[in-house]
Amino acid sequence: MRRLMAANWKMYKTSAEAKDTLLLLAELLGNRSPEGREVLVFAPFTALEASAEAMRALHGGHVGAQNMYPAMEGAFTGEISPAMILASGASWVLIGHSERRHLLGESDEFIGRKVRLALQTGLNVMLCVGETLEEREQGALAGVLQRQISLALEGIEKEAMPHLAVAYEPVWAIGTGKSASSADIEEAHALLNQLLEKHFETTREIPVLYGGSVKPENAHSILALDNVDGVLVGGASLQAESFSRIVTA
Ligand code: PEP
Repeated sequence: MRRLMAANWKMYKTSAEAKDTLLLLAELLGNRSPEGREVLVFAPFTALEASAEAMRALHGGHVGAQNMYPAMEGAFTGEISPAMILASGASWVLIGHSERRHLLGESDEFIGRKVRLALQTGLNVMLCVGETLEEREQGALAGVLQRQISLALEGIEKEAMPHLAVAYEPVWAIGTGKSASSADIEEAHALLNQLLEKHFETTREIPVLYGGSVKPENAHSILALDNVDGVLVGGASLQAESFSRIVTA
């Protein structure tokens, strides 16, 4: 399974800052992603074009947007379409990040519409799923993942599998400095693989990443866990030095 080493820059970095960070990252990595690993950076909309341009310095590197609206064009003030993302030079889109689900009220159905249109348009999709602390404490982990996966992937067929990745991001571990335990990560990834195998009626082909307070110090042990095919990194991806240590961990 290929490994995806992904950065979510959230609402940080102007286009000039994004370019500088990526050029430094490429230099630190010797202009290529480590063998078997791809680097993926989800940049702010205004930095997509500059990031895609700068990413040419890193072989095996790709750029993605952090969100999109599920329509090709139209009267949707402030939104961005999958065609606009592709035209910027980006090839991926992050869909269903917990900050969008919980701060901006995105539903599973709405997320499913985005996934379908992104794939139809030719974007690669990283779908984020994960439970809140309250849901975990109520023993609802399996049910939450099942609901999020089935509604996000409704109508998505096997052919889309090479263009899809899933990030397991427990909401309580994002930006808190407290990553999930090895046992929690392995349990959730095993559940996700079962759900994906059931949905696509085939054995595992979709990378499942872990996200939530990944740092240079814990990346190696997280990547060594069963069924962990990469990491999605927020805070520790903002500095090229720190992210390059994660990419090579
Ligand atoms: C994220 O934003 O997807 C994330 C995992 O953030 P952090 O690494 O800062 O917890």
